[in-house]
Amino acid sequence: MIDTKSQEKIQIAVKMILEAIGEDPEREGIQETPARVAKMYSEVFSSVTAPEFDNYKVFPVDETTEMVLLKDIPFYSMCEHHLLPFYGMVNVAYVPGDNNVIGLSKIPRLVEYCAKRPNVQERMTVNIAQELTRILAPKGVAVSIAARHMCVEMRGIQKPGVMTETSYYLGSFKEDKELKREFLQRTTK
Ligand SMILES: [Zn+2]
Repeated sequence: MIDTKSQEKIQIAVKMILEAIGEDPEREGIQETPARVAKMYSEVFSSVTAPEFDNYKVFPVDETTEMVLLKDIPFYSMCEHHLLPFYGMVNVAYVPGDNNVIGLSKIPRLVEYCAKRPNVQERMTVNIAQELTRILAPKGVAVSIAARHMCVEMRGIQKPGVMTETSYYLGSFKEDKELKREFLQRTTK
């Protein structure tokens, strides 16, 4: 959470930006904008000051599950170079180690945790895999992300609709080509 004092800082900064671009910060339509932006930043950057992802429970399963795959998990993040959104879908797969699994609903929560900070897509991909490894010590992890970046689409090179794809493999997904192929087959549309 961003504390009250820091939220006030954001408000002052946003007001200065509005002035600097030639706007009148007292104009009716944007009077409340600095406060709204501060509130929004507190939400979309909530992970920066969060210690670590702890909203989960690990529990054992009897049979050896091969691959646990969650497909098309939606996410929204902010690019750290322009503070513009990038958003898309994440696929997360893991092969349990010592038959430990995590509640399925917690994987989208983990993705959300990794998304809510100034980010680059490449690092976010790695972060998800590393956090899952820390929590579960699985035999292998695979993470792929396909995303649209507003800083690519609405400014600079202006290429609407371009998808950026990243992936990261650990453990058995790195060593076992069959396993990696299965992940790719099941996640490629
Ligand atoms: Zn950017």
